[in-house]
Amino acid sequence: MVLRSDPDSLVRSMYMLPIGQTWPSRAGIALIGDAAHLMTPFAGVGVNVAMEDSLHLARNIITVKDSWQTGLPAALQKYDADMFVRAEEYAKQTWMYLGLFFHERGGIAMVEHFERARAREAAAAAEEEAKTTALPTEAAREESEKGTLETGGPEVHASVLEIPSPVVAGIGQHVE
Ligand SMILES: Cc1cc2nc3c(=O)[nH]c(=O)nc-3n(C[C@H](O)[C@H](O)[C@H](O)COP(=O)(O)OP(=O)(O)OC[C@H]3O[C@@H](n4cnc5c(N)ncnc54)[C@H](O)[C@@H]3O)c2cc1C
Repeated sequence: MVLRSDPDSLVRSMYMLPIGQTWPSRAGIALIGDAAHLMTPFAGVGVNVAMEDSLHLARNIITVKDSWQTGLPAALQKYDADMFVRAEEYAKQTWMYLGLFFHERGGIAMVEHFERARAREAAAAAEEEAKTTALPTEAAREESEKGTLETGGPEVHASVLEIPSPVVAGIGQHVE
């Protein structure tokens, strides 16, 4: 596909809204998708967040279907409040991946990132497996009856993503 594509590539700028941007809710208007939270595509979530928005908006509207004339402003306010939280979370993700993609160690840092993620998944799966297959020993059974038994399995540390500081600093409106 790459080889057959037009060699004259078109360079386009990318834009994003500031992370965590909010605005006062207004009766009669609700923004969903990129209109509400344009973010760069580096986490691959924009369409999903847009669909989630539409689902939440529909659900909030349905809750006031019998009293929409009085209830709609509050329903939209609720939608906005939830959407701001979700949007911020995903915008942070895309920002973090943007930093990873464009870092001077980008390729290597990305491989390391996925290796860490894979190791965490494997550890979590092993822990789950250990929980379901481990037969309780006599001592463990006694401890368990006393209510003091710690859960077994390999120790899984809360993961902190070690992302090198991005080449681009600060939150930009315009990402080249
Ligand atoms: C390079 C790239 C890769 C991406 N990869 C992914 C991915 O892998 N996974 C993912 O989930 N997301 C991805 N996204 C993000 C995703 O494409 C967007 O988040 C999603 O399309 C947003 O949907 P939307 O309906 O809100 O806006 P849009 O898809 O932008 O739809 C808005 C529509 O409104 C139309 N419009 C604008 N102005 C007017 C007007 N005045 N009158 C009438 N119509 C108008 C536009 O033509 C457009 O069709 C990517 C984005 C880019 C740029």
